[in-house]
Amino acid sequence: MYSSIATVCLSGSLEEKIDAIARAGFEGVEVFENDLTVFHGSASEAGQLIRDRGLTLVTLQPFRDFEGLEGRARQLAFDRAERKFDLMAELGTDLLMCCSSVHPDALPGLNRAAEDFAELGDRAAKRGMRIAFEALAWGKFVHDYRDSWEVVRRANHESVGLVLDTFHIFSRQTELNSIANIPGERIFLVQTADAPKLSMDHLSWSRHFRCFPGQGELQIAEFMALLSATGYDGPLSHEIFNDVFRMGHSEQTARDGLRSYHFLRSMMPGNPMPNAQPIDRLAFVEISIDVERADLLRSDLKAMGLNCVGRHASLAAERWAINDLNIVINTEPEFAGKVPGRRATSVSAFAVQVDNAYQSIKRAKALGYEVLSPEQASASHGMSALRNVDGSLGYIVDAPLMSRVWDTEFTEDVQPVPTGSLIEVDHLSLSLNYHDYLSLMLQYRAIFALEPTASFDVTDPRGLIQSQVLQNRADSDSAGRFRLALNASTSPDTSSNRFLKTVGGSGVQHIALRTNNLKQTAIGLDQAGTPSLTIPDNYYRDLSARFDLPADSLEWFQRHDVLYDEDASGAFQQLYIRPDQQSFFFELVQRDGYQGLGAANAFVRAAAQQRAAETGEQTR
Ligand code: MG
Ligand code: MG
Repeated sequence: MYSSIATVCLSGSLEEKIDAIARAGFEGVEVFENDLTVFHGSASEAGQLIRDRGLTLVTLQPFRDFEGLEGRARQLAFDRAERKFDLMAELGTDLLMCCSSVHPDALPGLNRAAEDFAELGDRAAKRGMRIAFEALAWGKFVHDYRDSWEVVRRANHESVGLVLDTFHIFSRQTELNSIANIPGERIFLVQTADAPKLSMDHLSWSRHFRCFPGQGELQIAEFMALLSATGYDGPLSHEIFNDVFRMGHSEQTARDGLRSYHFLRSMMPGNPMPNAQPIDRLAFVEISIDVERADLLRSDLKAMGLNCVGRHASLAAERWAINDLNIVINTEPEFAGKVPGRRATSVSAFAVQVDNAYQSIKRAKALGYEVLSPEQASASHGMSALRNVDGSLGYIVDAPLMSRVWDTEFTEDVQPVPTGSLIEVDHLSLSLNYHDYLSLMLQYRAIFALEPTASFDVTDPRGLIQSQVLQNRADSDSAGRFRLALNASTSPDTSSNRFLKTVGGSGVQHIALRTNNLKQTAIGLDQAGTPSLTIPDNYYRDLSARFDLPADSLEWFQRHDVLYDEDASGAFQQLYIRPDQQSFFFELVQRDGYQGLGAANAFVRAAAQQRAAETGEQTR
């Protein structure tokens, strides 16, 4: 099998697309005919461009509305195919990808279609060419891969083979097991795409929401296991129609595309890549801050019960801790995690802890991710890091490495780690542009054994914010121990996009800390004068209607701006500290069995943040 991608996946001109595809390291490319039609040059020049970049031209696509016609219309369809063979000869490809007909005059019948393809196969063979047939999910008569395979099987022509396209298969929820019975050499092309689970017509879903495997919610691993049983050994080619990719950077899309290809390969039996490991916890979060603002942060941390338990021997960095929670305050003007152009306090790194850091790093490299070695970061700490899409670092550590780092790096003014109600980081919430959202989703899912929740919309007073959580699988030992919330919005003035503008790009918008006694933590904050985000009284009227809460609890929630929710497994309390200069902020949560992130309260929080920003209430 080898890597390939269709030009339709990327933004830009044909030249830009080919360059991005070649630079990312793909082996093959499918030419989407529209890209050729608008190319200012001959077909042979386009073919030469592709070969000059070292790429194999997998196919010309798509050839539409061919099968099932009669009389003159049938004759015209064959004539049209001959013109495409001419074009293919000039381009230098031997495969024409033909999708099932949506022609208004097309007639039903697998035998009729098989006869059409047998004849087309004869004509293709005379010119040394081949035909690959795909069942479109919205095809008039053929919309199931089992039917397209039946057409190919009955055509019984060595120049006619099958296309398997994961989107078309999954979007109709066709059973998958029949794939394993198709002989691999009869499959001429495999097209890969993922998608979020949406309830809409197949065509609109396909044209706007396809994404790379690893960015959506389809059961691609199952498909890959069945495909490997067929013995297929051709191109594995992404075919993505996505509004974000159309407007995004072709380089970023192409790089992610190749990583997604490696992720697909990792799903196949016998692949040598180390297995994905779940993330046990966030070992630390590093905050980059201007030296003159650091005191405010220190006093917030102090108010929550953290202490400075060690200073870095040679850098302007401090370790603040309580129980299993570690926050590094870094006031160095320049360092590897510091993102150029960042204008405000930001999270410059976080560390994810796994069982075996070496294996996760090896997997990340095999997937094509840039891993910054400690030497490259000119650091003595021995930790390797992923470069996140926002420029921050994602350190990968394990328990022995982490304790060595604390013992050998933060050696000045060492203090015992305090105990108290705050336990550890509960989750990080990132605000991203849509392209970065998809990149980060792929990165953390491909490397680690995480899965996404279904995405949902948070209503902000200025628009909608799409939100989705990456977490450990429910059946893993680490279930509930790691959560990364991703947020993106197309509306310019939502709280998530306001954050992007303030900070200068995607990044961590809030750090949620888990406490086993929110009351105690809230009192500590109150006494230190750390303001909470003001929640309107109407919220508590609604709360008293929705839940059977004791009056004193309700009164207490209202006084301390605590949000509350329940799910089937328990109760949840959350409190937001008022943002400093509209950059990132802290959330405090208490979980009593509750599994989510308080999605039901997200619109209240978003509105309160908007109000705080618009009234200047956030100034501290
Ligand atoms: Mg397709
Ligand atoms: Mg949160």
